[in-house]
Amino acid sequence: MIMIDKDTVRKKLEEMFDIPFSVQMLNENNEPAFVIGPEDPGKEFFTVRIYIRNQIRLMMDFIPQKYSVNFIHSMGEQAEKGTFVSYWKLMKMRGAKVTIKVNRKEIDPADVDSWPKDWSVFEARITKMPIVEDGLPDYESAVIEWGSLMMGMVLALADIVPIETEPTLKGYSEGEIKRTEVNRYERNPLNRKLCVAANGYDCSICGFDFQKVYGELGNQFIHIHHITPVSKIGPGYMIDPIKDLTPVCPNCHAMLHRTDPPLQPEQLKMILMARTGKMLFSDFTQQYKVAEENIKYDIDTDK
Ligand SMILES: [Zn+2]
Ligand SMILES: [Zn+2]
Repeated sequence: MIMIDKDTVRKKLEEMFDIPFSVQMLNENNEPAFVIGPEDPGKEFFTVRIYIRNQIRLMMDFIPQKYSVNFIHSMGEQAEKGTFVSYWKLMKMRGAKVTIKVNRKEIDPADVDSWPKDWSVFEARITKMPIVEDGLPDYESAVIEWGSLMMGMVLALADIVPIETEPTLKGYSEGEIKRTEVNRYERNPLNRKLCVAANGYDCSICGFDFQKVYGELGNQFIHIHHITPVSKIGPGYMIDPIKDLTPVCPNCHAMLHRTDPPLQPEQLKMILMARTGKMLFSDFTQQYKVAEENIKYDIDTDK
């Protein structure tokens, strides 16, 4: 018996992408299937259909909506396709088969220049089998994980995700435009999601793990830093959020930005290692296990 709560799926997606979602559950031959998508009263966008077959195979299809012609056309016009390609690669790295067709012809993630310029039909099918390598999967987590990867991939080409903007950094009038540019990429919620899906939530420099130290309060908290120097970010540079972004704690992040251009993460790691002989927190264990359940707070997710 596969138990999946559609409201949990919806809430998780809304948390991740910060837009309203709708999630429908279908029952086909006693096997669960979901239709998820951004809330879309005008039927202008898309849904993703997720099926679980024989408890072992997860399949997802992109389903255009009645009036999604303009949406698909605008996906093709999106100049920044790096995030889209990175989601695609990440799903392949995780063992899925990914087939994407534009105007009925399969496209190649390694050769963006060969893709059609004018998109009229978009198709995507992702198959993951087995859903997990050992034992029975947690189906709800699998639907959330894979659904969010597919959603992130499509939304990476859409204009319906709000891009967070960095609050103005006081005292940095010089080079402020460059900073805003970098922060746009660092703070794009899709790039962030993708970076942590690939690299996790530990600081890549000192190893600090907010959840281990602060418990639930620190769950999924981490800064995202852009490694590639600003000078390389121009028209035509394709962001690869897995390689170009890295999770860092606010201390290490501040240290990286002490220099202009910022230090490379490897340089800062060497400084730290030279002084301490190790990544500070990589062997951090249970020292901070306190009675968390006695401490009450509300997490302000905007911070
Ligand atoms: Zn750190
Ligand atoms: Zn940074």
